[in-house]
Amino acid sequence: MDRISLKEMKLFGYTGCLPEEKKNGQYFYVSIDMFVKFIPGAVSDELSGTVNYAEVYEIAKKIVENSGFDLIEHLAHEIGREVISSYDLVDAVKVTVRKPDAPVDGVFESMETEINIKRREAVIGFGGNIGDRKETIRQAIKAIEDNPAIEVVRISSLYETEPVGYDDQPDFLNGCMAVKTYLSPYELLHELQRIELDLHRERTIKNGPRTIDLDLLLMTGVRLDTEELTIPHPRMYERAFVLVPLREIGMYNGPVPADKDVRLFGSLN
Ligand code: ADP
Ligand code: MG
Repeated sequence: MDRISLKEMKLFGYTGCLPEEKKNGQYFYVSIDMFVKFIPGAVSDELSGTVNYAEVYEIAKKIVENSGFDLIEHLAHEIGREVISSYDLVDAVKVTVRKPDAPVDGVFESMETEINIKRREAVIGFGGNIGDRKETIRQAIKAIEDNPAIEVVRISSLYETEPVGYDDQPDFLNGCMAVKTYLSPYELLHELQRIELDLHRERTIKNGPRTIDLDLLLMTGVRLDTEELTIPHPRMYERAFVLVPLREIGMYNGPVPADKDVRLFGSLN
């Protein structure tokens, strides 16, 4: 990866847990490393083919000067987010914030944090069996596309399947999509849950009918097993209606259980 960096910018700001820090402020030293797969400007010698250093400096300066957060971690995170969302060219960003005058008794050079943010590929599964299923799926995809932090890469066809678990309900339409995002796995999950709620999903019967179900199936380099979120999705490898569309978009090439029939329904358009 190529790198574009701004090192040790000395900026005045008001981040700190203590009231004096928020009132009097202090100097922070901020460094930003932007990682890019390929910088077109390195070949073309044109400013439009890289990131404008002066602009990035202004981004950091504005955030440090105008914010009084408690934590330098959050300060670094806010700077990183603003940088990665401003430049499509940037695949990953590392922000370090140093606080040489941190109000801690003792001898030290500085207190410092490093925050890394990168674009990852994720796969979202969608499905529903109430109302106008195709229209609801279309609205869910539109809501995902409308989020500036998420870029849609590929969308599978729609597949129709009989319900799993609780049988006395209409057939499901399912599919999946690959996206790129710099959101954390939890933020992406919360965004999907917000969209589910917006589209009036009701959680009544377990495995019961739903207008829309959005699951976070996979995320590159991420394995998680917490109460709130498990990645890869814990039940995906048992579900043909997940694996068949996943295989279509090139994100899976293993076996598919044959117990339920997964019928090609057509494309979204
Ligand atoms: P299902 O998707 O299995 O039909 P729900 O959509 O009702 O069931 O999800 C139930 C819970 O699963 C949610 O509260 C969520 O926190 C949790 N969960 C864990 N891992 C994931 C994941 N990878 N994607 C979506 N939800 C997940
Ligand atoms: Mg779900």
